[in-house]
Amino acid sequence: MLNLVLFGPPGAGKGTQAEFLIKSFGLDHLSTGDLLRSEFAAGTKLGLEAKSYMEKGELVPDEVVIGMIKSKLESNKDTKGFIFDGFPRTVDQAKALDEVLNENATPISGMLSLEVDKQELINRLLSRGKVSGRADDQDQSIIENRINVYNEKTLPLIEYYKPQGKHFGINGMGSIEDIAGKLIGIVEKL
Ligand code: AMP
Repeated sequence: MLNLVLFGPPGAGKGTQAEFLIKSFGLDHLSTGDLLRSEFAAGTKLGLEAKSYMEKGELVPDEVVIGMIKSKLESNKDTKGFIFDGFPRTVDQAKALDEVLNENATPISGMLSLEVDKQELINRLLSRGKVSGRADDQDQSIIENRINVYNEKTLPLIEYYKPQGKHFGINGMGSIEDIAGKLIGIVEKL
């Protein structure tokens, strides 16, 4: 089983690249951002609780996100593997994920980390906001907060996966197809 963490700041291209990896390797996509937005659209208690954090560009509490991921893993047992997109975002989330995966003897195969300059991230998110309608992509101060939260709480995850030999850094600034080619090349060797 192939379990990939697709890592990088907001606007790094995780969703776009996930599609290439899904096509190439037949993986199931688990994006916590997408899951939270559909919880909210469905008007669930979890979705309503998450919304107040998402609007500000803050992280939703670990226990909420971990509980959501656990139930998705439980209900997708027949899979070639998962691509985790936007999760884990804290060291506690990564530890909780490892616990569940280790219970099933299906550990993380690799962490693919997309590296993109801050100004490029802001430009990409503002243009995505014009078409996606996502409120958190339309306000520069919320975007900057999301990047700060990433640097403070999420970036340390590199030091969690590196000693395990699972971290792969990729320049995320080139053409979409070139980046996809690099990612696929790395995953083929895992
Ligand atoms: P994304 O679609 O990945 O950019 O996520 C949008 C928002 O959802 C984030 O700014 C957070 O508020 C929330 N979110 C998504 N994934 C997580 C996570 N793993 N942990 C905490 N909050 C999350």
